[in-house]
Amino acid sequence: MSARILVVDDILPNVKLLEAKLSSEYYDVLTATSGEEALQRVAQDSPDIILLDVMMPGMDGFEVCRRIKQNPAYAHIPVVMVTALTDSTDKVRGLEAGADDFLSKPLNDTALMARVRSLVRLKMTVDEWRNRENTASQLGIAEGTSNVMNEPVEEARVLVVDDQSFEADKIAETLHRDNDIVVPVDSGIKAMELVSQHDFDLIIISLNLKNEDGLRLCSHLKSNERTRAVPILMIATDDDLDRVARGLEIGAHDYVIRPVDRNEILARARTQIRRRRFQDRLQANYQVSLSMALTDPLTGLYNRRYMEVHLQKLIEKNLEAKKHFCALLLDIDHFKKVNDTYGHGVGDEVLKTVAFRLKDSLRSVDLVARLGGEEFVAILPDTSEDMSQFIAERLRRSIGEKPIKCAAPQGEIIVTTSIGGAFIEPGDHNVQGILDRADKALYQAKETGRNCTIFEKSGKLDPEKFRQEPRPIIE
Ligand code: GH3
Ligand code: MG
Ligand code: MG
Repeated sequence: MSARILVVDDILPNVKLLEAKLSSEYYDVLTATSGEEALQRVAQDSPDIILLDVMMPGMDGFEVCRRIKQNPAYAHIPVVMVTALTDSTDKVRGLEAGADDFLSKPLNDTALMARVRSLVRLKMTVDEWRNRENTASQLGIAEGTSNVMNEPVEEARVLVVDDQSFEADKIAETLHRDNDIVVPVDSGIKAMELVSQHDFDLIIISLNLKNEDGLRLCSHLKSNERTRAVPILMIATDDDLDRVARGLEIGAHDYVIRPVDRNEILARARTQIRRRRFQDRLQANYQVSLSMALTDPLTGLYNRRYMEVHLQKLIEKNLEAKKHFCALLLDIDHFKKVNDTYGHGVGDEVLKTVAFRLKDSLRSVDLVARLGGEEFVAILPDTSEDMSQFIAERLRRSIGEKPIKCAAPQGEIIVTTSIGGAFIEPGDHNVQGILDRADKALYQAKETGRNCTIFEKSGKLDPEKFRQEPRPIIE
């Protein structure tokens, strides 16, 4: 995992020291010695993580951080404030400026590496979602990428695992400022029980439990599918940094050192909750975008775009494997009259039922798509010409032989379809050419009186001849 890390410090030896440490772990290191230079670097080189000194002449670290976090293009880059100050109000200032973490000078190597690794991992996840979302928005179906810092943090569900009740109470009281729902438990077993039944946005775990090791709980949560993505915030004492580092390696996201400072834990909890929600939302957007990009919202069938890609793949596969397939184009007869007589709503109901019946009458390897309006296509891979004709007739009957329930005055109506079929031998075809061939046959079916199937070479199919199928083919 080679990540690019920007080190910002006005004192050159500090920069060099960090650069040496990080380079020896194979990170790609960029440097800057002032706030202004840091901002330039961010714009030019899009680092994965920024280690930012707080005390710098001119623009200080807080200001640099604020500017980065206010820019939607950079807000997702984790910023770690590197500070000589131990005063917690400075930490809080940094976190309020949007910093994701703190490291104190002199730097503890294990904690530095563990923290960097954990933030890199996180950045990679966010990047992946951003990429996918970008692709989706290029396809014209997603809202633009949002800013992680705008994610609301209120009313989160937080599980607190600590057997010192005064600490748990203090944390609960603090998080109530954000109207969080805080559930305290005093053991790992109780925690595991709860997480198996409820969803949490954050889990806070004490590493100083009397009867058990909090790290074991971290590890359980990380290996459990249900809880793997839930951020973990550890609470530890300052002589426990090795175990903190171990926890970060296991996958915990952050830690707070006792005595717990209220502002600090509030700010850190907010950062984790915000990020968790951001990731959830990217994921949800992505899934919605994906299905919007590929399916028709009215019928749930695949849309033209998907069908075209699918058909192109099939053409290539068949050329190589010397296989054949069949393309059927189906169009509802006199559909305009349905709309005109009963209204668009009834028309929509008819479309949905037709879509359902088509899908229901085909194998799972067949593809049905709605091309638009009342026109559908069915692609039947690896199907003989004879069998394709039986299937086409079966589809035609599935629509026309049973009335469709809808909001028409009589409660149901009968619609019929015309079908054009093209049988495609292995060869050098293109998508549009195949659809044109099927369309020509469909046109003839309409000309011939509708409610019939015409294949390009066979002409109009005799419904009686294609009624009894030779063998069941629905798989
Ligand atoms: P033909 O038998 O020659 O196919 O005649 P037709 O009336 O079915 O064909 P035409 O292409 O003239 O009309 C199609 C109609 O389908 C016109 C349009 O208003 C309607 N339509 C297209 N999309 C939708 C839709 O999503 N919902 C509804 N209700 N109607 C639609
Ligand atoms: Mg029609
Ligand atoms: Mg039409």
